[in-house]
Amino acid sequence: MVNIVIQGCTVTNWSKEPLLTLSHNQQAKLGQAIQCSRQMTSDALQRMKNYRHRLLVKSIDPQMAKDFFQSGADVKEALEKYFGITTASPGFGTDFDTIIGKIELTDAGLQQPFDIVVGHIHDWDDVKEGVSDFFSEFKKFRLRSAFSALGSIRTGTRGWVSPGHALKRIHLNVDIINSDPRGKIARTIVHEGTHKWANTDDVAYKWENLPHNAGGYANLTNNADSYAWTCRRIWKRVRHMPAGS
Ligand SMILES: [Zn+2]
Repeated sequence: MVNIVIQGCTVTNWSKEPLLTLSHNQQAKLGQAIQCSRQMTSDALQRMKNYRHRLLVKSIDPQMAKDFFQSGADVKEALEKYFGITTASPGFGTDFDTIIGKIELTDAGLQQPFDIVVGHIHDWDDVKEGVSDFFSEFKKFRLRSAFSALGSIRTGTRGWVSPGHALKRIHLNVDIINSDPRGKIARTIVHEGTHKWANTDDVAYKWENLPHNAGGYANLTNNADSYAWTCRRIWKRVRHMPAGS
């Protein structure tokens, strides 16, 4: 049974796994991941606001924008890669404001104490309850070749929130706490956090031709994975984190 406070967050085990425990190593790593998730949203927010300000100044005084602001290359790179937009895209200003707004909501949620539930997905009852992420991954895999993919869904689901549940708590798969570096666990916390606090959806996961919007998706400003990968990318750039962090 897990019921501990890590970085101000209450961490409990999933009700379906009453016997689950977290080792000291797992607890330490989860604590580092929570800290990283907070850095990711606050780094992204700060850099994006700075870039928005720069664009405004640039429209009035290009030389001043050059002299007094950083180039915003990290923000431009992430927006193009994970949202498929550049300043030349139609509706860029509105989209960028939407993105900043949703990161702001997620960051406000993450900086406060919040609840984390750890566990594994067990059986089809969980699917019937419609746990987000697992359910959308399942639907997408079913369109391809369902059965062989099943194993990887069951073990590959990184986290989830239950949209029907009043608390919309962030669930994390214990396996990723063992296997992943803290930055990747943090990326999952950010992904789930955007579902919880900014009402995002799963339009496309990164592995579904999300980069540079190769899949031609609409409405990526509401896509959880676009936020998660954007925040992690900017965090890596700002803090000079090595690849694989
Ligand atoms: Zn999701």
